[in-house]
Amino acid sequence: MPIDPKLPYDDNNIFAKILRGELPCQKVYEDEHALAFNDIRPQAPIHVLVIPKAAYVSWDDFTAKASDAEIAGFMRAVGNVTRQLELDGPGYRLMVNMGGAGHQEVPHLHVHIFGGRQFFQMIAD
Ligand code: AMP
Repeated sequence: MPIDPKLPYDDNNIFAKILRGELPCQKVYEDEHALAFNDIRPQAPIHVLVIPKAAYVSWDDFTAKASDAEIAGFMRAVGNVTRQLELDGPGYRLMVNMGGAGHQEVPHLHVHIFGGRQFFQMIAD
């Protein structure tokens, strides 16, 4: 079920629990601003999620409320992860689902990184 992106941040969402160390993850990268880990249901040979460490429900919430330093730090982290995964040569796809129409399921902002294969067309569904 997609989330309602207008609800307040839920401290009990899965990614909040991963950030607090209450649930495990296959960590790929971590810095001051972001944590990256393998998606539990990968849709490509490489499928990594990058999440901000601070509590933001969605891309909308993050871009409206995060500081410039948080936004810059998070963007830099996504780039760092892609280079660490050596995807900067072959290329990759980024995706953010936002709210109901975007079919966002976890109410903590996450950027999907897909790599390891050729993507021929936009993901439409
Ligand atoms: P979205 O539809 O953009 O909200 O995507 C949520 C993603 O989180 C899906 O690709 C799930 O497979 C992934 N996911 C859900 N729970 C976990 C988890 N515990 N560890 C890693 N990935 C997860």
